[in-house]
Amino acid sequence: PKKTITSPEPRGDDPDVSLRPLALAEFIGQRAARKNLQVFIEAAKGRGEALDHVLFVGPPGLGKTTLAQIVARELGVNFRSTSGPVIAKAGDLAAQLTNLDERDVLFIDEIHRLNPAVEEILYPAMEDYQLDLMIGEGPAARSVKIDLPRFTLVGATTRAGLLTTPLRDRFGIPIRLEFYDTDELELIVTRGARVLGIGIAPDGAREIAARSRGTPRIAGRLLRRVRDFALVEGADRITREIADVSLRLLDVDAAGLDQMDRKYLTMIATNYGGGPVGVETIAAALSEPRDAIEEIIEPFLIQRGFVQRTPRGRLLTAHAFRHLGFPEPKRDPA
Ligand code: ADP
Repeated sequence: PKKTITSPEPRGDDPDVSLRPLALAEFIGQRAARKNLQVFIEAAKGRGEALDHVLFVGPPGLGKTTLAQIVARELGVNFRSTSGPVIAKAGDLAAQLTNLDERDVLFIDEIHRLNPAVEEILYPAMEDYQLDLMIGEGPAARSVKIDLPRFTLVGATTRAGLLTTPLRDRFGIPIRLEFYDTDELELIVTRGARVLGIGIAPDGAREIAARSRGTPRIAGRLLRRVRDFALVEGADRITREIADVSLRLLDVDAAGLDQMDRKYLTMIATNYGGGPVGVETIAAALSEPRDAIEEIIEPFLIQRGFVQRTPRGRLLTAHAFRHLGFPEPKRDPA
């Protein structure tokens, strides 16, 4: 979808590097993930070994890249970063791998988008720290084995189901990231305001937090935009009222839903009587790729109880109808 103020994916104008927490102790939320990482990192350091490979799974903007950087920092090793679609050929990945030092972290974002030829050479690299490369072509082709340093692969993906089973099975530490609750996002907004030197009232931080779609990246972005409104209004700090007025102007509603969320819900309500309707049909009706519907739009709407996935398709809940202000249709039980 078009990247708007509330898209959870990165945008070119996101200067959010300064908001990134640098240590596990500074990272807000994701308690289970932090706890696990802390234990495994300490154990790996104690043994002087590379950390087992880590897979972060979760919707965009929840902190996968940030955590990968923190892992490298806590291990005291280099952080190298690339992404699935960028690694075109096996040779590109081989170059990255042979450049690593012992125990370094190699981060591969969107790892589900690796091409199969590249994925093939990743298996022995992950399992035995070996590269199996074919050199030459035809009858003169021969295979060579190259030893690699013991490294840690950190992969990130939006849904575990997008990975092939052999790849998924090679991660010893799979970690699922969850949407953040309002208390956590309030802490993130308050911390962000402090880092950026912005005055904010507690109820102002709360308002932004409640409307950030459970996503720190969106919280950071909304904070900056609300700050701009406050500045234009001549206010010295962000209050609840300033946050509310500016978020309304940005088309973020009281539940944190953006235009695309409402378009999705309204379309199912008005064209399909609330469903059930198949995801392919929804994708066609919204002119959006199915991936974007399933990985970006739906997870939050499902988590907040606006939509249910049923065997016969997507079904709007009574909560969604109430939120849209539409009467709920009489339906047979799904
Ligand atoms: P992902 O890789 O999952 O898309 P990122 O790690 O790039 O997400 O995080 C997006 C932005 O959100 C980061 O730049 C960071 O500023 C912020 N962020 C993410 N998680 C947290 C957190 N727990 N606390 C504070 N800020 C966070």
